[in-house]
Amino acid sequence: MPGMRFDNYIDGRWCEGAEYRGNLNPSDQDDLIGDYAQADAAQTGEAIAAARAAFPAWSQVSPQQRFDILDGAGSLILARRDALGWLLAREEGKTLAEAVAEVGRAGQIFKFFAGEALRLHGEILGSVRPGLNVEVTREPLGVVGLITPWNFPMAIPAWKIAPALAYGNSLVFKPSGRVSGCAWALVDILNEAGVPKGVVNLVMGTGAVVGQLLSESPLVDAVSFSGSVQTGQRIAAACLPLRKKLQLEMGGRNPMVVLDDADLEVAVEACVSGAFHATGQRCTASSRLIVTAGIHDRFVAAMLERMAALHVGHALTPEVDIGPVVDATQLRKNQDYLAMARAEGGLVHGGELLDLETRGFFMRPALVVGVEPHMRIGREDIFGPIALILRARDYAEALALANDSELGLSAGICTRSLSHASHFKRHVQAGMVVINAATAGSDYHVPFGGRKHSSYGPWEQGHARDFFTLVKTTYLNGGGVPV
Ligand code: NAD
Repeated sequence: MPGMRFDNYIDGRWCEGAEYRGNLNPSDQDDLIGDYAQADAAQTGEAIAAARAAFPAWSQVSPQQRFDILDGAGSLILARRDALGWLLAREEGKTLAEAVAEVGRAGQIFKFFAGEALRLHGEILGSVRPGLNVEVTREPLGVVGLITPWNFPMAIPAWKIAPALAYGNSLVFKPSGRVSGCAWALVDILNEAGVPKGVVNLVMGTGAVVGQLLSESPLVDAVSFSGSVQTGQRIAAACLPLRKKLQLEMGGRNPMVVLDDADLEVAVEACVSGAFHATGQRCTASSRLIVTAGIHDRFVAAMLERMAALHVGHALTPEVDIGPVVDATQLRKNQDYLAMARAEGGLVHGGELLDLETRGFFMRPALVVGVEPHMRIGREDIFGPIALILRARDYAEALALANDSELGLSAGICTRSLSHASHFKRHVQAGMVVINAATAGSDYHVPFGGRKHSSYGPWEQGHARDFFTLVKTTYLNGGGVPV
């Protein structure tokens, strides 16, 4: 089945890869998205060299020029939102509505960071020493390696690429091989928006070759990564001996606490959306539902009723609520975890495999009831449409269960009690807290990140400046003029 070939983008040119890899639609394995270049180590080295050569000039262009390119890219993305959303849904398996919304988000991110390029400022402080003033300024970081996962194939690259460029860095972008089509389309738009040659380089290929080289190369100053904890640890092991600046955004086993006094309808909507939308394949998904005894049985019954109404199917079909799982490996992993939950004594509702018209990876969302804190299903990052319920005696036990995890990305609580909501906000061990809404979903202009093993280094989005710039403190003998 021959497909269209898509090349890597290095030093302002489309370059043939050492080999090509076909990408198939997870809703329909008979639908080939395209054949995508796979770089070898030599080509990855060329991309790094191109980014190095482009850095000095790009780091000095005016903020207006950076604004124009980023704003232009944002406009192109927004103008093509429907076509790009179609590609995203076809390649990654989000429903069309979710995919179009993600593309819209990517466009807004470019617009936001266009403005940030103009707003970058420093500080002037008085010195404790007479005659001196102190200036704190920010400079571009250098060449950054951006390594991204498959589950937000437009939004995550956008929230790394846009700030990298806004703050004057050149970059090598290595997307997940499962979503090369989205990555290629995004870089094609940046090319059209006028990014100078060498400033943005797209290197599709494996993590073991391209990702590893970005981490190991002394010519790459910093690496920003989103993906699994295991890969993040591997990247850290390669980067830290070189003292590279690192930004790691990794997994979540995010708790959603539902207290006796919660509005049942609000809680069920938050949990269904947080756990199952985007097929549960979100790092901020609500995968551990911690429910207090007084509402537990009513909550389970309402969840099952709501879940029964969810339509699972081909991501491009308009009435579908939940698209396919991303690939056969992930589908098998999901099923293995459900079998494990049964073996450990959990009661599994849903989770059946679906045999639909097209050859896709379809399963119904699953709710596992009667889970005990020690069970593997409650402790490991599954990354699928599977939520489990832990029963808690009261708020105090619910908070303890919420914090009983090595991960700490996002956390939520559904309650009408202001005091419980306030206490939870302060004491839950997570980077992001949501009250009476789904744990998944975030705003692009505010800080995004986690605690414990979920994140490492400066946060993303609203705090991207801290990663993508270097701080400099200057002491200026200004003749004693006080600030
Ligand atoms: P993954 O860790 O398998 O891969 C992520 C990226 O790392 C891919 O581009 C991959 O090719 C690359 N990679 C693999 N091995 C590498 C190596 N040795 N060196 C350098 N790069 C390497 O993750 P995935 O399966 O693509 O994505 C799912 C995971 O991502 C989940 O665990 C999810 O929780 C996490 N995630 C986290 C966030 C966040 O912001 N916290 C966002 C999205 C996804």
